[in-house]
Amino acid sequence: MARRKVSLDELGRRVSAARAATEARGETFYPGPSRVHLAAFPPRQRWDDWVELSSRAWPSRDERHYMLVPTTCFNCESACGLLAYVDRETGQVRKFEGNPEHPGSRGRNCAKGPATIGQVTDPDRILYPMRRSGPRGGGRWERIGWDEALDALAARIRNAITEGRRNEIMVHIGRPGEDGFTERVLASWGVDGHNSHTNVCSSGGRAGFQFWMGIDRPSPDHANAKVIYLISSHLEAGHYFNPHAQRITEARANGAKVIVLDTRLSNTASHADYWLAPQPGSEAAINLAIANHLIQTRRYDRDFVRRWWNWADYLSACHREVPVTFEAFEAILAGLYAEFTFEFAAAESGIGAGVLEEVAEVVAGAGTRLSTHNWRSAAAGNLGGWQVSRTLFLISALLGAVATEGGTFPNAWNKFVPRPIHVPPHPGVWQELAWPPEYPLAQNEMSFLLPHFLKDGRGRLDTYFIRVYNPVWTNPDGLSWMEVLTDEDKVGCFVALTPTWNESAWFADYVLPMGHASERHDTHSYEQYDGQWIAFRQPVLRAARQRRGESITDTRQVNPGEVWEENEFWIELSWRIDPDGALGIRQYHESREQPGRKLTVDEYYGWMFAHSVPGLPERAAAEGLSPLEWMRRYGAFEISRGQGAVYEAEVPAAELADAHQAGSGRVYSAAAPAPSSNIVPVGAPEPDQAGRRAVGVMVDGVVRRGFPTPSGRLEFWSSTLAGWGWPEHALPGYIRSHVHPSRLAADQVVLLSTFRLPTQIHTRSANAKWLDELAHTNPVWIHPADAARFGIARTGDLVRVETQIGHFVAKAWITEGIRPGVVACSHHMGRWRLDGGPRGAGGMMATVGLSRGGDGWRMVRQAPAGPYESADPDTRRIWWNDTGVHQNLTFGVQPDPISGMHCWHQAVRVSPAGPGEHHGDIAVDTGKAREVYRRWLEQTRPAGDVSPDGTRRPRWLMRPLKPSAAAYALPTEGAEP
Ligand code: SF4
Repeated sequence: MARRKVSLDELGRRVSAARAATEARGETFYPGPSRVHLAAFPPRQRWDDWVELSSRAWPSRDERHYMLVPTTCFNCESACGLLAYVDRETGQVRKFEGNPEHPGSRGRNCAKGPATIGQVTDPDRILYPMRRSGPRGGGRWERIGWDEALDALAARIRNAITEGRRNEIMVHIGRPGEDGFTERVLASWGVDGHNSHTNVCSSGGRAGFQFWMGIDRPSPDHANAKVIYLISSHLEAGHYFNPHAQRITEARANGAKVIVLDTRLSNTASHADYWLAPQPGSEAAINLAIANHLIQTRRYDRDFVRRWWNWADYLSACHREVPVTFEAFEAILAGLYAEFTFEFAAAESGIGAGVLEEVAEVVAGAGTRLSTHNWRSAAAGNLGGWQVSRTLFLISALLGAVATEGGTFPNAWNKFVPRPIHVPPHPGVWQELAWPPEYPLAQNEMSFLLPHFLKDGRGRLDTYFIRVYNPVWTNPDGLSWMEVLTDEDKVGCFVALTPTWNESAWFADYVLPMGHASERHDTHSYEQYDGQWIAFRQPVLRAARQRRGESITDTRQVNPGEVWEENEFWIELSWRIDPDGALGIRQYHESREQPGRKLTVDEYYGWMFAHSVPGLPERAAAEGLSPLEWMRRYGAFEISRGQGAVYEAEVPAAELADAHQAGSGRVYSAAAPAPSSNIVPVGAPEPDQAGRRAVGVMVDGVVRRGFPTPSGRLEFWSSTLAGWGWPEHALPGYIRSHVHPSRLAADQVVLLSTFRLPTQIHTRSANAKWLDELAHTNPVWIHPADAARFGIARTGDLVRVETQIGHFVAKAWITEGIRPGVVACSHHMGRWRLDGGPRGAGGMMATVGLSRGGDGWRMVRQAPAGPYESADPDTRRIWWNDTGVHQNLTFGVQPDPISGMHCWHQAVRVSPAGPGEHHGDIAVDTGKAREVYRRWLEQTRPAGDVSPDGTRRPRWLMRPLKPSAAAYALPTEGAEP
């Protein structure tokens, strides 16, 4: 029977009728992603006993009864809501679907959300604590008990603390769980040992926003935008991908135009109204040409610029020849970017000047409803990449599209970080292995340089934890990591907290199994629209059994094997480090309800939800639940909506007692409220000399909240960059990339390596079989013109890609979806296991042989991935064997001297693979890797040379874990750090 096409109007009428009928029954109406009630979600009133018919039993009606328990996805940073379908008969999770109660994801997920079931049931996962039983990397393990592991680690850490070796303890985080949790644990130990993955991820993007706003993330209101300007692939893999993608889709349905800058034809670019494929590294030049157009045609928001830019500081510091008036600033502004014509941007980017002008007109027409975003992409690829996001925000700031409907917000106003039950003080030490003096303005820890710092003899690690992190595989220069991780003089004890075996865990001394998204606790809140929400990740079987009245006191009681969760682990470990409380650590892990007893996660979250989340206690009470019970039942709570332009808010008189106005207009007050937490990142200027905190900024005679920058305004001119040795980059500008055409040899092209596929994430997704079947390889994208030039005849032919420190051999994909002169290869592929080691992820890991001669390393593939016997019959059905190539091993470290971001793009030579070369071959010279490290280090301006005040780093800049003010002082000659 032919299907009748239903008009949108008719659909709307049906939805309205369904809504009325549902609400008449006293149930919540969920229109569902397709806006048709048939696709709706289970009403939350029925989450205790939701009935579905078994599809496998058809045509008989075999009813399955489920308890629906919410949690939060852990497969990317978006923290979308999931609903676990817990079979009431078996007590096991049958599947995961979206949680309609989650305000960010609104019931929707990408493929990686429901694929969580594959990770939970993965036959290759780690179920028990393991200890190395042979030499490091030898692949021999013995199962031990948690007590044994905890006692051994606690003794090491206690010794390091009591012997004054606090800087020998480090916890290196890949995917963070709860904001600030690990930081607080380390602070309770008095250790500055937090390390992150951020400088191989988003530091470039963050730094550009931070220098402008004092806040390092943008929060675009895509849903209400008229024009959406993306330097990313947001519809498939960008930051807050699914929550943002669905709002971009809504905006498009309402007529919004989408502009995408991406050198390759991403899925996002394929949906754009304007797809610009620039020469990598030229993105800031395009942004400046658009900004210049706005300035020259005087289509910027004059009043916004006058009131909110720190132009007066700029004139005072840099143009003493003119009066400090807005008119004088405008006259200078008119000339500042005059060289950034469309013709200049066209020459840099390779995109026609006419196209750029057309795009600039579209941007100009958006007014205050321009939403913009850049996170990784160009900001993560290039020397000076942080200027990509800084120049992008220049466009928003010119249009006044800041915290407007359809504009771009600072993230802190659309995110909520609750105060926890205990807040330890700032540690009094400074970790130079993570925050070295050469990078005083680094956005985050210089994590990827750790092997080189250890080789330099800058320190050693007694106990080094990684958690949800795979440094050998994720970072550039992984073989230098392998060299230090196998050197027990440099790393005394290496502990991997991980759900799955990976390339780094194979070198660990202890491998401790941690839970997936449905097996651990965390809270989350991210900026995904103009509102604030908090979501709860939880062990769903624990919540299900508690809902049935059982008492569960330890997450291991419900998880498979002896899989644990980190929060209980850290509390237990802290308790064992300081069993009698003599070190002052235990107090931060004790119960308030029962002093002297260990804090439980139920009390930890019960206190947080009852005391720190506005509106939640009342909402829970209305249903006769405690705040914790409410969150365990529904998983997410919207705190507020429509934050609006917080910077415009007048500061209440009560906060202005003893107020003092600095020259910049910054107002400090003794009555300013204390920050909500001294451990989570809070971008705010330090107190003035009288100890008063910044409370606002004087604007046209009124004290307004402003921005958490030194000036309280948007910093067009960064006093921080100017004052810390980089005055030439204090304004939004254009830095020519290390892969600018002028820096490439005639036979080199740019390798773009910063993109990922929508269905894979760094390491753990390889243990989700559905995702592996969807995406398992990473060919090198090559334009047909380049393929002809390189002598590569067909897609699938092997190519050799030569970097500064080695080469890899991969398959070619000849496509017009990439700019000529540029090749591209996605990361997240090329997983490997050493012969004889644990299987890891059978469907995605090739077995390799690794050999070394001096600094020279070679990796060759011994066996591809393929079918195998396991408890899961699907592993016998693996039909693919091409799992791609691990390109990151062949990249030297390239830290931007300002942001600290690893500049991922590579200058490479591409040629047909030679005789005897095979797919997956890798060769690396770690001696050359040392040379690359030293060359980039030479570009830095160390704090000892540029610090204006004798400190290591501006105190106002964010740091995930801030040490005490005293620890910021640069060490004097011969002093301990
Ligand atoms: S976007 Fe996908 S992977 Fe990321 S949190 Fe949402 S469902 Fe999970």
